[in-house]
Amino acid sequence: MQGPTPRPWIDTLGIYQGGKSKIAGIDRAIKLSSNESALGPSPKAMAAYREEATQLHRYPDPIYHDLRAALAQKYDLDPGRIVCGLGSDEILKNLCRAYAAPSDEVIYSRYGFMMYPIAAQAVGAVPVEADDDNFVAHVDSLLAAVTDKTRIVFLANPNNPTGTYLSAQELDRLHAGLPTNVILVIDSAYAEYVNFDDYDAGLELVAKAPNVVMTRTFSKLYGLGSLRIGWGYAQSEIAAVLDKIRDPFNVSGPAQKAAIAALQDHEFEEKALAHNSYWRRWLSDELTALGLTVIPSAANFVLVRFADTTISAEQANNYLMQKGYILRWLPGQGLADCLRMTVGLQEENEAVIGHLKELMQGA
Ligand SMILES: *Cc1c(COP(=O)(O)O)cnc(C)c1O
Repeated sequence: MQGPTPRPWIDTLGIYQGGKSKIAGIDRAIKLSSNESALGPSPKAMAAYREEATQLHRYPDPIYHDLRAALAQKYDLDPGRIVCGLGSDEILKNLCRAYAAPSDEVIYSRYGFMMYPIAAQAVGAVPVEADDDNFVAHVDSLLAAVTDKTRIVFLANPNNPTGTYLSAQELDRLHAGLPTNVILVIDSAYAEYVNFDDYDAGLELVAKAPNVVMTRTFSKLYGLGSLRIGWGYAQSEIAAVLDKIRDPFNVSGPAQKAAIAALQDHEFEEKALAHNSYWRRWLSDELTALGLTVIPSAANFVLVRFADTTISAEQANNYLMQKGYILRWLPGQGLADCLRMTVGLQEENEAVIGHLKELMQGA
């Protein structure tokens, strides 16, 4: 007897692997595997979230009026072109649902964010991986991958898991080389952390082009990953399409309220940014001093390579786990000789470096 059969592409669909948060036999593991904010959420965001507890019986604002107004004010945007999602992941997925049909092609860069092939496959589209250039997205390779079937190009800028980014000029060149019927999605999940002058989160391109979408998240700098809230900015027609296919109440009331409070807590934001710049540099220096290769990062994590070392990335990963620290080893993404480490609190960063010293200098 034949049971229910899912669409044919579901069989090959990858499942998103989140960072581990538990280690068997260890009571309280320190999680540095998902690029979560070292300092957690803003105290004002937590207060706004708690206050919303009395309203849990109410459906949330379906058009996120106040949140869009707060975003529009902060970044000088047209609120009518802002879309909000259940995490920015929902927006990435909905772009595929709306614009890519089975056997259409969706391009992303080698070592690009793991969600892109998954979002493409979920609608039966074909994920196409373009070569990178030494851990950096490569504009010419991305453009060379374009065919008649291409519908979307996804670019995380800065990229996860490499931490590298493309300059505004390179983004312009990428966009200029794309046919106008292809959407360029600039996933700027880590934009707030970038402190380089040649960077633009994508707003300049969205402002002038009809086929560009920028996505952002409250899961990283703002420390609200558990609330699942992200947003995007696009030209009005794309924004209207995204609004049409989302669920009507996709973003919860507590998430909307906490996000607004987080956006407005400038002092906490500055503190989180300063913490990240200091410790990202410190970690990069310390890891380099251990003979490891650190890929230059613009985000809140570092990707470190164990090339020409007696200790492998896997051994280092296992050793740190025994000590209670979870980093991210990504053999499935072709990065078996690398570990990705989220910038943590001072004592966490120092402990990881201390344990790596024991391991590598004892070897
Ligand atoms: C973490 C991350 C996101 C954010 O996902 P949310 O669904 O908003 O939590 C998006 N893109 C990249 C590249 C990321 O690393």
